[in-house]
Amino acid sequence: MKRSLQLGGMTIDLLPEIEHRMMPVSFLFDALTREQMEAGSSWLDGRFLDPATMTLGLAFQAYVIRSEGLTILVDSCNGNHKQRPTAPWQHDLRSNAFLDNLGRLGLRCEDVDIVVCTHLHCDHVGWNTRLDNGRWVPTFPNARHLFGRKEYDHFLGRFQREGAAAVNHGAFVDSVLPVVDAGLAFFVDDGHVVVPGAEGEVSLMPAPGHSFGHCCVRARADGEEAIICGDALHHPIQLELPDLRMRADLYPDVAIDTRRRLLAHCADTGAWLLAGHIPFHSIAQVRRFEDRFRFG
Ligand SMILES: [Zn+2]
Repeated sequence: MKRSLQLGGMTIDLLPEIEHRMMPVSFLFDALTREQMEAGSSWLDGRFLDPATMTLGLAFQAYVIRSEGLTILVDSCNGNHKQRPTAPWQHDLRSNAFLDNLGRLGLRCEDVDIVVCTHLHCDHVGWNTRLDNGRWVPTFPNARHLFGRKEYDHFLGRFQREGAAAVNHGAFVDSVLPVVDAGLAFFVDDGHVVVPGAEGEVSLMPAPGHSFGHCCVRARADGEEAIICGDALHHPIQLELPDLRMRADLYPDVAIDTRRRLLAHCADTGAWLLAGHIPFHSIAQVRRFEDRFRFG
């Protein structure tokens, strides 16, 4: 399993919080049938899907990009101690895995210079904060946190209209607003260049559909490209069935178009696809297979 990528002078490392968990199909897809699952079994083993129990293998993972002397964390997973009665998979987690894996990369929380969230759903902002004497405080105290302006404004509006619990299972209040209150949040537009550099460029790539302002993170160096895809892709069965609707997509048809473009781009250019929710094939290449896709 590939856990690290070198693009010129840029290093990208996988940072898992949950490396693999089987979850009900209904967590992702309303329309995925047992027959489609069985067809997928021809190239995806039981770690990825199990038609007998109608479960899918998922991961919750971040990435760390190091370039130009900067350390950039992309997405911050679920976090600990978050009270999520409506999102049981991340309710009151008490795991050292995320911070231990950060340490295995030789990093302390203080070393993170930039946090980028592909979007502000609860499984992508969790470690932005940690509980300290009953208060949510930034986990990465020296980091600029880049939030998409469209995404933030959308959820701020919903928070003001609907209240805390209604917005991303409470994550806007406990994992986003404390970062804003600490003065560590910076609001950026689609296409924002995170790091312009001679060694390589890191930028936000609009990838609409899953949420109001969802972006991928694109890293380019030395003629190579890697795309951290956030929730533009959740599971390898979507390579087989790119038009399958994902349950949490805000605009499903837009998300399907984004997914097809992303997979086609990776297949046609050789760009690396780095997926937060796909175990084992987290850092992968994609090829065309008839009218659909496979891992390279
Ligand atoms: Zn997600």
